[in-house]
Amino acid sequence: MINYDEPLFRPPSEAYSLILQVSLGCAWNKCAFCEMYSGKQFRIRPEETVFEEIDSMSRHSDQIKKVFLADGNAMVLPFDKLTKILDKLNTTFPKLNRISAYALPRNIEAKSDEELRSLANKGLKLLYVGIESGDDELLERINKGETYKSTSIALQRARKAGIKLSVMIINGLGGQHYSQQHALNSAKVVNEIQPEFLSTLVLSYPLGEDHFKQKFNGEFLPLNTIELIAEMKIFIETLELENTVFRSDHASNYLILKGNLCRDKDKLLNRINAVLDDPINARLRPEWMRGL
Ligand code: SF4
Repeated sequence: MINYDEPLFRPPSEAYSLILQVSLGCAWNKCAFCEMYSGKQFRIRPEETVFEEIDSMSRHSDQIKKVFLADGNAMVLPFDKLTKILDKLNTTFPKLNRISAYALPRNIEAKSDEELRSLANKGLKLLYVGIESGDDELLERINKGETYKSTSIALQRARKAGIKLSVMIINGLGGQHYSQQHALNSAKVVNEIQPEFLSTLVLSYPLGEDHFKQKFNGEFLPLNTIELIAEMKIFIETLELENTVFRSDHASNYLILKGNLCRDKDKLLNRINAVLDDPINARLRPEWMRGL
């Protein structure tokens, strides 16, 4: 039996995966916009506990095809520990075809090319990375602890090692002051990485706007609905992707956009332009119309 340490988060696309907490909380836990693990002290769970939980699921070995390693950035585990866990998973679940985890660029950077290839060969096929922004000034304001360069280099290395990437950018993260540079530099870093999956979500304030403003290192003036969509327009216009599945359909998004970039770029931009040209008649989520 698995005893989850709540709160437990996973990406929407891991809804049918076995979630295994190999660590608790987030080793960084300092991003201005994030309260996911603010109540949890980070720690790596003991190997015996993790192995016991894997064994407890062995009776479902035929059904388990995907495993997501939680919590916040399981890639922070040293290579040897990760290797043992992947080996144990592969032995216990012979039909396993994908292991995934959240990661920070620095967790990837801490592993050699050979180690990354080895992890990929043992089934670590997908990493979810919250890039949040490609703009260095904004990354510093939100205390991400990463830069354009650290993100670009680490994520390109992961892809070269055979690990797919699902990356996320936060719409509205810099407010009015940083909107343009956020959109442009986020698109540029994503272009360099060429991830398999890209999604955006709108900045939200789990503990209120004032709480976020206190943690944001600088002046923050939130964007209204139309300004958020205008920022998305600059972002998508600047993207030059070869084959990336794009999703902007999280509950936080005002405008649902989905498609393949590059194939659907014009279609997505036409949809955005239609909203910007006639926002009242466009089909935005009704609950957000007040921001217009
Ligand atoms: S690294 Fe991820 S989980 Fe950790 S504080 Fe930042 S956004 Fe939250």
